[in-house]
Amino acid sequence: MSTETLVEKPAKISSLREGVASGATTATELAQHYYARIEAHNPALNVYLALSQEQALEQAGAVDLAAAKGDPLGPLAGIPVGVKDVLTMQGVAATAGSRILEGYEPPYDATSVARLKAAGAVILGKINCDEFAMGSSNENSAYGPVRNPHDLERVPGGSSGGSAAAVAANLAVATLGTDTGGSIRQPASFCGVVGVLPTYGRVSRFGLIAFASSLDRVGPFAGNVRDAATLLEVISGADERDATSSRRPVPAFAAESDKGVRGLHIGIPEEYFGAGLDPEVREAIEDGIAALETAGCIIKRISLKHTRYAIPTYYLVATAEASANLARFDGVRYGHRSAQATNLSSMYKLSREEGFGAEVKRRILLGTYALSAGYYDAYYKKAQQVRRLLAEEFVGAFAGVDAIVTPTAPTAAFKLGEKTDDPLAMYLADIYTVTASLAGICGVTVPCGTTKAGLPVGMQVLGPHFGEAMAFRVARAVERAQMY
Ligand code: GLN
Repeated sequence: MSTETLVEKPAKISSLREGVASGATTATELAQHYYARIEAHNPALNVYLALSQEQALEQAGAVDLAAAKGDPLGPLAGIPVGVKDVLTMQGVAATAGSRILEGYEPPYDATSVARLKAAGAVILGKINCDEFAMGSSNENSAYGPVRNPHDLERVPGGSSGGSAAAVAANLAVATLGTDTGGSIRQPASFCGVVGVLPTYGRVSRFGLIAFASSLDRVGPFAGNVRDAATLLEVISGADERDATSSRRPVPAFAAESDKGVRGLHIGIPEEYFGAGLDPEVREAIEDGIAALETAGCIIKRISLKHTRYAIPTYYLVATAEASANLARFDGVRYGHRSAQATNLSSMYKLSREEGFGAEVKRRILLGTYALSAGYYDAYYKKAQQVRRLLAEEFVGAFAGVDAIVTPTAPTAAFKLGEKTDDPLAMYLADIYTVTASLAGICGVTVPCGTTKAGLPVGMQVLGPHFGEAMAFRVARAVERAQMY
């Protein structure tokens, strides 16, 4: 293990905001402090793809002015945050980690980004990720891999690896990422931070560059559960520009997370503790479960039998939707256009050939195949049926328990290059996260011990549809047991 570590825990949002409100510090000073940290450490970590310094300092100045006048401040007033580069931010280059979008400057903010700004957050810049959020290690970014602050020879996880690494190295107090099959939970676990998969429909997808629309979710990363809950509260809620966003009222997640866990029923599904689970990860999670029991939870062993179908189902649904979503990148409307093209058809072909990386091409091919005439019923339709069964199985399980606890990933962070030659091994590592994605339920990953080598282990706490408050409560209890 490399001895160099860049880990630094961000200060809590409540104390930073209090400092800005009282005048003990200013949002401008905070932003400048973070830009200095980024300048010092980004070369080693490769987290930020673009900095939005001008906008950030303007926003910070507005917060400082409001604080000086005694005006009411938003819940994230002056808090420096970063945003995964699959979300649009007006006037700042958006790449989705791909060459094909090179030079694209979106003319609008994603709803989640607009809501962060409205809450007073200072957005520092756009953060590296796997190309179009396809991957589990951040090695599929066209702009080079992000490195894990705990060990620079290891991956931060993916696809929101940069968003996780940014919080772990305190290059942002909190960040936004996206999760289609685990892309918030797995990197949060690998980097020792908190990550949230909101229920499908909880957070607007407007302004999210789509990978698989029926699975894609936007969610926060933070250094502790309460801060993650605060961010989710800000970005959640109905949006007329996303027809799949829910009109359900948004609970006060941060306050809810303070409630204790005594008497809660926690389900432990046996299928998540079988072959392939690293013994050190298992041990850390079992210690976490014991801590929940000590805190007054009632532990119940349960079974989720359809789990073994989740990986093939996910990789059919996700690739099929990706092949349709990525058809829009054709060199006509935005991004890269091949200079070699001689006619319209070669312009399409060459622009896509030059613009997309290997993993994205693999997925477009897989997805197009799964949707093609003659194969549709055998693959895509069958996958949709299995998906329904998986979702129903979770609904059944939540009739008997308040939350379900599992490891977030079967191993701690692996080495850069370790799985790049074997896409199947990379896909199989998503085993514990793709189930909740397919079922549409929510989850929180919270640090839960380390391996002997000092690498973080994450515990996944799953809640039912729109049960984020419950997942936060349980995650909070695990966090307390770690004595954060
Ligand atoms: N690792 C999974 C994949 O490669 C999940 C990615 C994601 O959640 N965006 O598809």
